[in-house]
Amino acid sequence: MPYKNFFKDFKSIIIITLSTFFLLEGVVFLVVNSIKKHDTDTYLSLIVPDFTKHVNMTYTHLTDISKIFYDMDVNTPQVKEIMYKASKTKNPQELAKLRKELLVKLSPTYTYMKKYAVRQLHFQLPQAVSFLRFHRPQKFGDSLIGVRETLEYVNQYRTPISAFEEGRIFNGFRNVYPIYYHQTFVGTVEISFSFSAIQEMLAKFDATSYIFMIKKSIVGKKVFHDEKSNYTESAFPQYTYDKKTLIDTMEISLKKIRFINKEISKQVEQKLQTGNSFSFYYRNKNLYNNHSIIISFVHVPNLNEKTVAYIIHYQFGEYLDTILHKAFMLFWLLTLLALGLSMSMATYLVYIHKKQETIHSFAVHDALTGIYNRHGVNELLNQQIKEYNRTQKEFSLLFFDIDFFKRVNDTYGHEMGDYVLVNIAKIVNENIRSSDIFARWGGEEFLLFLPHTKLEDAKQLAEKLRATIEKHAFSEIDTITCSFGVTLLQEGEDKNSFIKRADTLLYKAKSSGRNCVVSE
Ligand code: GH3
Ligand code: MG
Ligand code: MG
Repeated sequence: MPYKNFFKDFKSIIIITLSTFFLLEGVVFLVVNSIKKHDTDTYLSLIVPDFTKHVNMTYTHLTDISKIFYDMDVNTPQVKEIMYKASKTKNPQELAKLRKELLVKLSPTYTYMKKYAVRQLHFQLPQAVSFLRFHRPQKFGDSLIGVRETLEYVNQYRTPISAFEEGRIFNGFRNVYPIYYHQTFVGTVEISFSFSAIQEMLAKFDATSYIFMIKKSIVGKKVFHDEKSNYTESAFPQYTYDKKTLIDTMEISLKKIRFINKEISKQVEQKLQTGNSFSFYYRNKNLYNNHSIIISFVHVPNLNEKTVAYIIHYQFGEYLDTILHKAFMLFWLLTLLALGLSMSMATYLVYIHKKQETIHSFAVHDALTGIYNRHGVNELLNQQIKEYNRTQKEFSLLFFDIDFFKRVNDTYGHEMGDYVLVNIAKIVNENIRSSDIFARWGGEEFLLFLPHTKLEDAKQLAEKLRATIEKHAFSEIDTITCSFGVTLLQEGEDKNSFIKRADTLLYKAKSSGRNCVVSE
């Protein structure tokens, strides 16, 4: 009959070990994730400022180029005179003549400027009336009030200005200058660059990929209807791609960029609404073998500092891959450590469990016969009586004592007495079931509890044991006999009264001549 102790059984150890492992693993996961997040965030936080710096350098550089063109080729006495004359007349023929004159004069310059990525060379009369667009000479005479804030600004303050702005045809990084003819303000001229110019210059910093997108609402409001084909649907609902920036000579191909954009469009929707610049990384098994790609959205503000467009930059994140790989390795290393710790703990628990079992076994067994002692049987009996109350099955008890045992000791010596005790225990053990509880109650008294056994069967067993012991030859002793008291547990009875009753019956057996079974 097995004993219940502190760890119940190995199941508890397995549960404790697994719980410890999963707890440690949870901590490992949190720690590794927070290290990973910290490292990636720190690295990513450097990307936007770095890229913004490159973009600003590019703006400044292009503004300088435009200023050189303005000073050396555009703001010449002949041009000023043409603009003066144009500002003074309303006559269409006169205006057409002057426009032609300006076009012929500056066409070679414009061709040359285009080599420096200038897209728009555009003259306006005072009040921002378009006079001559070198990129669309046939479109003129329209008022740009309400469309081009930079022109309104120069008309008002008469100083040059540089800013990004959408126009009637193209968007551009605009540089607008006032034109004076002998102190008279005679109009404005802009020398503007497309995003392609920026794209080319940025490519000198690093050979990665850029595209440009602008707010749909702005294109819708400003661009001439027949020029809207310069734009195409983007993956981001409020934005439209500038078609000319979708070139396929970049490090990350256009097809892949379109795929990435589709994947990330939901994720960036809210961030785009803030109008701020931001960076993050993207990984996909089907894309460059799960290498990370850093995507930076760098905002493009207009004259009023409102975000109207974004430059999107795609680059390979080799350093991020290293961070992620290190985090991956750290995770497995710590997992192994957690596993090792859990296994060591399990081994220790098994050791403790076994030790406790040994100690317990000593505590509940009789050293001489190996059967339960009084302490052991008390512990087990409580469980058994509980079980009896639950199942209401019969539960019998045999209480027996060796007859005239004192004589054995006196005649043959104590050692022979011990020998008899051991052998009686052996005989009984050979005749009972594994579910029976056999104990040495003290001296030469034994208790035998029989679960699920009727009184009749218990009596039969007692009789069988009595006869077997009587017949047994104990070395030089011819006969050893025992007297038995046999009884059945009553409903609601406790163990003390149960044993007491058996003891009384045993006493009766002794009084009625010994070597007999008395039951009730
Ligand atoms: P009764 O028939 O009335 O039971 O007579 P008895 O002599 O068996 O009873 P009594 O209680 O007078 O004596 C029991 C003896 O059992 C006393 C003691 O010396 C002996 N005894 C008790 N424990 C041990 C033991 O562990 N080893 C040995 N050898 N003898 C023991
Ligand atoms: Mg005795
Ligand atoms: Mg006795």
